[in-house]
Amino acid sequence: MYFSDETIESVRSASDILDVVGEYVRLKRKGSNFFGLCPFHQEKTPSFSVNPELSIYKCFGCGEHGDVFSFVMRLEGMEFPEAVRMLAERAGLELPEEGEGERAQAGHREAMLHALRFAARFYHHILTRTPQGRPALEYLRRRGFTDQVVTKFGLGFAPDTWDALIRAASKHHMASDVLEETGLAIRRRDDSGSYDRFRGRVMFPILSHVGKVVGFGGRVLSSESDQPKYINSPETPVYNKSRVLYGLFQAKNSIREREEALVVEGYTDVIALHQAGIANCVASSGTSLTREQVQLLGRYAKRVVLVFDADTAGAGAAARGIQVVLSEGLTAYVVSLPPGEDPDSFSRRGGAELEKYLDEHRRDVLAYLYEQAEREGRLETPEGEAEVMHEIVETVASMPDPLMQESYIRRAAEVLRVPDIRLHMVLEDVLKSRRRRTAPATAPAPFKTRPESAQGPRPPVSRKLNTGRILPEERTLLRLMYQHGSSLIEFILGNTSLDEFTAGPARQAASAFLQQYEAGSVDRSTFLNGDYGDDVRRLMADVAMMQYEPSQNWERKQNIPVPRLDDDPYEAAISAMTLLKLDRVNDAIEKQRQEIFEAERAGDEIQPLQTQMMALNELRRRIERREFLEDE
Ligand SMILES: [Zn+2]
Repeated sequence: MYFSDETIESVRSASDILDVVGEYVRLKRKGSNFFGLCPFHQEKTPSFSVNPELSIYKCFGCGEHGDVFSFVMRLEGMEFPEAVRMLAERAGLELPEEGEGERAQAGHREAMLHALRFAARFYHHILTRTPQGRPALEYLRRRGFTDQVVTKFGLGFAPDTWDALIRAASKHHMASDVLEETGLAIRRRDDSGSYDRFRGRVMFPILSHVGKVVGFGGRVLSSESDQPKYINSPETPVYNKSRVLYGLFQAKNSIREREEALVVEGYTDVIALHQAGIANCVASSGTSLTREQVQLLGRYAKRVVLVFDADTAGAGAAARGIQVVLSEGLTAYVVSLPPGEDPDSFSRRGGAELEKYLDEHRRDVLAYLYEQAEREGRLETPEGEAEVMHEIVETVASMPDPLMQESYIRRAAEVLRVPDIRLHMVLEDVLKSRRRRTAPATAPAPFKTRPESAQGPRPPVSRKLNTGRILPEERTLLRLMYQHGSSLIEFILGNTSLDEFTAGPARQAASAFLQQYEAGSVDRSTFLNGDYGDDVRRLMADVAMMQYEPSQNWERKQNIPVPRLDDDPYEAAISAMTLLKLDRVNDAIEKQRQEIFEAERAGDEIQPLQTQMMALNELRRRIERREFLEDE
């Protein structure tokens, strides 16, 4: 270790943990802490908290915790010294000069990043300060690039010689094998040394989202050249193409503000849009959009707008992009540019016009897929139409959030002009065949219940309380009562009270079953013909028509074995009741935890609240042991 404690402490105190974490996680203030979605595990409700006073973070879901250094190390896969250097740079601190020997120790990654940063400065200098760069600078100006964006994106020029970079680097004691490893230089076949990869090209440095140069794209000046128009850095230990988005470093503040990112195709598109005042814009540069790239965007954006040139809009590329965005839980839109235009050409007509076009022509994914199918003439036969419907439902099925699926199914029913019950049936089929394909190992980590500690309250985690949303286990209970009549109504409603069902149609339906049971005859047609109102009819139609199977998540979530509905309806009912009761008691415990926390902060008496908490915990243990069943 070659940083003194003093150095480390000064970097720590210059690095505001809220700022640093805020670059990766959207944080919201709650009391004296800040909460957001944990970057270390998959979750839908925030349990990741940052305490700015103590300068620490902790996740109540997965237990990950630490300070600003460990945060950066974990998320960026950095070693400690690299994290210290990055944070120092970020805070504008000068670290004590490192000698040659120390640099040699600093590790491979560090040396490679150093070489890449050196190369970016070298190319930029050539472009902006030397006669060699003049033609390239003129070329950029002709294409409408201002000096400002040339600086902002660090554009450069690689001289048209075999070893300009290698020679400059060797003057700064950089070994050529490091240049080779970064892809900046290429080893000669006869092993007699190496030569520059990029020659006579405008250079676009590719930055990681924290602003490190990790690679380059190089473009020829003249389109008549027999060279390929673009060449790019190869993948290296510091440049994983599927994890980097071109322009994200420059765009992230704007993306965070608008909660929306535009994804375009090329480097020049990104720069042109920035110049037109549309700064929330990135490119996947070369690869089609990957999961990792979308996850990265998800740290800053909720919505992703995929912008395609009309001619390359290869429905394929758009459709793949959409799938990836949706499966990461973000909302996707698609914009096709008019024929013959790309963002670069379009933006020269002015930012306002482009922005207007993007607003007016954005399609949600379902409308886009439908219109695309229409353009391709696929809706003209019944078979074609069925196929399109299936594709659209496949798209909906790739969304991780059932609530989101639900609202997209409704929207799809509108677009396709078919009853949503039909789509629900298709969706169930698709989901079922996916469940069969998905190995449990890829499932999200199981929900762990935390033991209550004796050391008093911890800051409450704002787990979303179940309000108004009908739970899957309630659907199962309704389905069992619907299917099996009196016997299961007696069993379920003998062990569950009506107010455990979610207020609204679920509780109304349960109450109707109870009435019919007590009146001595159960008639299921009454649920579907509207006797209990439209909401109950719709719910029960769903429940009855879907081949409803309990979610496999139950098993993972609570370690409750889940028998299939048709194997043993009583076992299925016990599982569903156990879950419903656990969900209810967990909500109550969550509320109680919040109350204790607030009482303690206000200096109020907390003893009675803690007694209630113990009772709730005892209740939970009894439910887990299934002691709510009357005859057991
Ligand atoms: Zn976590």
